[in-house]
Amino acid sequence: MRRAVCPGSFDPVTNGHIDIIERASTLFDEVVVAVGINQSKARARLFTADERMGMLEEVCATFPNVSVAGFHGLLTDFCQAHGIHAIVKGLRAVSDFDYELQMAQMNSSLTEVETVFIPTSPTYSFLASSLVKEVAMFGGDVSGLVPDRVLTRLTERLAERRGEEDDA
Ligand code: ADP
Repeated sequence: MRRAVCPGSFDPVTNGHIDIIERASTLFDEVVVAVGINQSKARARLFTADERMGMLEEVCATFPNVSVAGFHGLLTDFCQAHGIHAIVKGLRAVSDFDYELQMAQMNSSLTEVETVFIPTSPTYSFLASSLVKEVAMFGGDVSGLVPDRVLTRLTERLAERRGEEDDA
């Protein structure tokens, strides 16, 4: 059984993530999308870990060999605990490469795990969750960059945040 993990923060999941997850699902028997749960970064996130996982579960429901899980701490510990020997990362640009190469080498030094890089589709090469949030926050149109149900939640959450700021 070839099992891989697609790790990330997915705050929120974008069409770029889904493209990588879908392509990974054709290369491996099983793919686990692992959502990083980092308490120290929790306040910086727009969505809670449960919300991020819930959105991923909905959008990945069409891929029968893809499941969603949360992980704390080291990704390599998660891999060991789940019998996973491959980490799949999407590469957008040269700027991703330096960091990802260092991370891949560190992870393989910690445990027996290979990192597989999938080049981003040109349609999504500019796409990052942080940028989607920023554009949406200033009223930009991000439909087409995230699934419809994510767009709805994003719009609602940003309106809630604006309401909280107005009250403060
Ligand atoms: P982001 O960088 O969007 O905040 P994450 O930390 O959730 O995303 O990223 C998880 C993984 O998804 C990383 O390997 C990242 O390179 C990949 N990824 C994110 N967006 C894209 C994209 N548009 N195309 C390809 N891979 C992507």
